[in-house]
Amino acid sequence: MNQQQALTERWQSIVRELAVANVRLLAVSKYAPDDAVEVLIAAGETNFGESRPQNLRDRATRWPDCQWHMIGPLQKNKAKYIGRFAAMWHSCDNIETAQAVARHVEDRVLPVLIQVNISDNPEQSGIKPQDLTAFAAELSQIDGLKLVGLMGMAPQQGDVRNAFRTLRSLRDQLFNGSFGELCMGMSNDYRIAIEEGATIVRLGSTLFDSRT
Ligand SMILES: *Cc1c(COP(=O)(O)O)cnc(C)c1O
Repeated sequence: MNQQQALTERWQSIVRELAVANVRLLAVSKYAPDDAVEVLIAAGETNFGESRPQNLRDRATRWPDCQWHMIGPLQKNKAKYIGRFAAMWHSCDNIETAQAVARHVEDRVLPVLIQVNISDNPEQSGIKPQDLTAFAAELSQIDGLKLVGLMGMAPQQGDVRNAFRTLRSLRDQLFNGSFGELCMGMSNDYRIAIEEGATIVRLGSTLFDSRT
């Protein structure tokens, strides 16, 4: 089997697994070369995650029929790329940056997830859980952005399941019965995230890297 077939088969098996759980895949292509992206597009994937704004712009321009999701840290001076080209912004954790992004969305509405820091590490991206209510209220005031859910990354070591439970309960409180996305789970922990209610998982290495 060649590499392209192997990638297609990994993608198909993940898609089948997620379909059973009714969870959406975000194919994290940040380390993947263009030809691997081409293989997944040919297989039928349309949702890709990028962590660098210029790469997102480049790929969104090259493959405009796919949805390009921003999952990485964002500086205000790169906000235009996300406002113009992102299909969803998963890593929103700063109001000034959000205002800067909103200035570039033009006549559309950009769906946004608030990134919450559910790791035990205060250096990680994301707002603190105790700041979520106030942050969400401020974000809701910004025209051009629509808050649609929460995103989080579990700690590398430590209690992954408990971190996912924390994010889920924050989502439940904030959305109070209406639908809110729960974007959590990466290659190493996505099965736990699914058990804890993820609606979107972000998979990079387990999908693209044949060594895993
Ligand atoms: C890179 C990245 C992923 C994918 O990680 P893998 O472990 O390769 O699946 C998911 N989410 C974010 C925010 C990332 O930066």
